[in-house]
Amino acid sequence: MKLRISSRLATFAVDKLQILLRMPDALIATTAPASKINLLGMTRAQLESFFTDIGEKKFRAQQVLKWIHHQGVRDFQDMTNLGKTLRDRLSETAEIAPPIIDSQQDSADGTRKWAIKVAGGALVETVLIPEGDRATLCVSSQVGCSLDCKFCSTGKQGFQRDLTAAEIIGQVWLAIDSYDGWQSGKGRVVTNVVMMGMGEPLLNFDNVVSSMELMCDDLAYGLSKRKVTLSTSGVVPALDQLADFSDVSLAISLHAPNDAIRDQIIPINKRYPIANLLSSARAYIDAQMDKKRVVTIEYTLLAGVNDQVEHAQELAQLLDGFPCKINLIPFNDFPQSGFKRPSGNAVSRFWKVLMEAGFIVTVRTTRGDDIDAACGQLVGEVNDRTKRAARYRAQYEEMDTIEG
Ligand code: SF4
Repeated sequence: MKLRISSRLATFAVDKLQILLRMPDALIATTAPASKINLLGMTRAQLESFFTDIGEKKFRAQQVLKWIHHQGVRDFQDMTNLGKTLRDRLSETAEIAPPIIDSQQDSADGTRKWAIKVAGGALVETVLIPEGDRATLCVSSQVGCSLDCKFCSTGKQGFQRDLTAAEIIGQVWLAIDSYDGWQSGKGRVVTNVVMMGMGEPLLNFDNVVSSMELMCDDLAYGLSKRKVTLSTSGVVPALDQLADFSDVSLAISLHAPNDAIRDQIIPINKRYPIANLLSSARAYIDAQMDKKRVVTIEYTLLAGVNDQVEHAQELAQLLDGFPCKINLIPFNDFPQSGFKRPSGNAVSRFWKVLMEAGFIVTVRTTRGDDIDAACGQLVGEVNDRTKRAARYRAQYEEMDTIEG
């Protein structure tokens, strides 16, 4: 079966994976009547087309982009460098509609997590992790996720829908707005973005690419491409085409030193095994102008599954000569996960093997523990079309009965 991965791309075969791209979602209003066009998720080029289509000059796009993303302005009447007639016309036909913050939790360590309500009523989560003069925003790309990685809380919920570009970039907008950071002069609220929240970003290709474009556009958030990271579990056909549309940093959720283990914990590996994934990631890096770029390898350590010294040695062999740095993530346990966090000793041993093999290795410190904001703990309520959550609960209850 031929499926389209993106309206930007040529059609290619990816059977089973539901990589279906739709109308540019930036054009879909998130919260207001369908007759109004939401300008929040539009890239510079899309906004220029919007203005030329209504008989205005292209430069209006630049003015409006700055109002929305530099100043946080939502009311066209406050855009004082637009003429009154244009302001009235925009008020009638368009809107700037971010998603809605449903709740906010602040951790003792400064991490802030938002549950964000999107059209249809589902919740997705966004987390801001301050660290020294950096503040990294972890952004969601889908409501739930279809990939069912076994150690992931979001994966247990099944999949509902892709987020629109407005709902993705809206998470950046809301984070800044939440700190009243538009003109605070206190430095940037968001210095880095990682597409590592709920969902697999490459399965929502167009909207994620548009949003990342806005993150990096000087007329919007102006982040360096090195400071925006897309993380994928391995949708190889989409990754193969990413370099044609984006040059942000890349992270691979590897989590295993071989296919036998990865098949067990990341089902998409059966479709696109490690060798294909690494080769696609290398091609992406090779296509970049900046030849010093490396891939971040994310490796969640699961006690007794992938955290032994022999696994570290196998990983070192696998990544020998591959341009990367390795981020070790001790698993954050959550109820009914079925996995355990490794001991401190196991983490140290693993780290040491990789260091001695010459890799740059970091160990991710857990942040926002008290508000369940850590990696793999984003659990917004999802209307589970795949019924995976129910199946999982039934399975768990059965296990519990047998063990009890
Ligand atoms: S780890 Fe990422 S890709 Fe895997 S199920 Fe969770 S959200 Fe989806």
